[in-house]
Amino acid sequence: MSYSQQVFDSLKAKYSYQPEYLQAVQEVLSTLQPLFDKDAKYQKNKILERIVEPERIFNFRVEWVDDKGEIQVNKGYRVQFNSAIGPYKGGLRFHPTVTEGVLKFLGFEQIFKNSLTGTPIGGGKGGSDFDPKGKSDNEVMRFCQAFMVQLHRYIGGLVDVPAGDIGVGGREIGYLYGMYKRLTTKYEGVLTGKPLNFGGSLARTEATGYGTVYFAQEMLKDRGETLEGKKCAVSGAGNVAIYCCEKLYHLGATPVTVSDSRGMIYDETGIKVDILKQVKEVERASLTRYAELVPTAKYTPVSEYKAGRNEVWSVPCYAAFPCATQNEVNLEDAKCLLANGCKCVAEGANMPSSIDAINAFLDAKIAYGPAKAANAGGVATSQLEMEQNAGMTSWTFEEVDGKLFNIMKNIYLNSSETAKEFGVEGNLVLGANIAGFRKVADAMIAQGVI
Ligand code: NDP
Repeated sequence: MSYSQQVFDSLKAKYSYQPEYLQAVQEVLSTLQPLFDKDAKYQKNKILERIVEPERIFNFRVEWVDDKGEIQVNKGYRVQFNSAIGPYKGGLRFHPTVTEGVLKFLGFEQIFKNSLTGTPIGGGKGGSDFDPKGKSDNEVMRFCQAFMVQLHRYIGGLVDVPAGDIGVGGREIGYLYGMYKRLTTKYEGVLTGKPLNFGGSLARTEATGYGTVYFAQEMLKDRGETLEGKKCAVSGAGNVAIYCCEKLYHLGATPVTVSDSRGMIYDETGIKVDILKQVKEVERASLTRYAELVPTAKYTPVSEYKAGRNEVWSVPCYAAFPCATQNEVNLEDAKCLLANGCKCVAEGANMPSSIDAINAFLDAKIAYGPAKAANAGGVATSQLEMEQNAGMTSWTFEEVDGKLFNIMKNIYLNSSETAKEFGVEGNLVLGANIAGFRKVADAMIAQGVI
């Protein structure tokens, strides 16, 4: 049995109750064996056994009082996964589905994604099962403050620098930052994704969505194709999806779908990004509100989706951009995309495709950009925010966007060159995994057994 299979089997026995974490590990480990066959040092140093275990996990109670005066209790977590190449870095997710296993999957992915950016940041992730939906601003503020009362002990500008993720945007980061400052009296770049008037970076809000489209553009360029004039399907309607749609328009493409947890919009004339921003960023409403405001929009609720399907992927498109959440593209969705002529999939969300869906894209040899490469623009720009904070300066939008573009281009080059090195040209899953892994593993070996 191969080294990677041995390690995966023992992990499976130990963490059978954490399916998302096992899925993320399986996806990475299933591509690393060619590296281990080439160089025995990784197995000799037991790198796999070490890298799959987080360095530490904090797990805490968060108590707060709602608007009715009732005491509420949530779970809080911070997974400090790997600090071999820099301080832990990764977002906070506030969503009722958050568990330690979900955060371990996200933290594990984050190690290799951060490594691929070429910047010195380690991997981490955190969050809570708190659901910001339907909560007043004051309730969100009290929750964020209570969360930070616990979290501040474990983070710091050179220790661990959280950012946003699902359910955590500029509003939440602002409240978290305010409490961190009050508790520590330090004004440091301890969180990224901050609003612009106190240390946030221009282009951070746009970075993940823009970066995913830049990555698609680079994949297609290598195949002599472009996004210009093409119809694109986008899922999600949050931070990543909105700015993915915006950048698609900049490149002459037309996003024709978006979705949220309750349903999807199809508009063959193109998604109206200004109205989407108003509905999602300002009103924090559902997409039914968008359908009220846009006469050409067709709304389909989740209850009308075909069983076992995400209807977004039934819409014929040249390129697909999953930007909502994990496991939103299954094998049937993948087959439908391919049958309808889809030539490119770039993942804005983390682990949106199941392993058999990924294999279907690879077998079809379409341009497939896996999440840890294609959505790394968000964390890369967070690192640019850290750089600006440390230098007490701020850069223009164009400067940050230009750096983001170059980072995405380099991630593509690094992943595709690594795929070629291992004889599987075009397989960016293997390319990104080996390139991201190798840098971290070599750093761990150099630092000894600690
Ligand atoms: P947001 O909270 O801004 O938006 C999430 C969107 O996805 C919302 O439209 C939400 O719908 C929808 N959604 C969430 N859960 C589900 C679900 N279970 N089923 C269907 N739809 C769902 O989050 P982001 O845009 O920031 O994050 C989206 C994805 O991108 C996540 O996978 C995240 O980890 C990843 N990512 C984000 C980065 C960032 O910089 N923000 C960086 C890299 C990756 P509703 O509003 O109804 O809940």
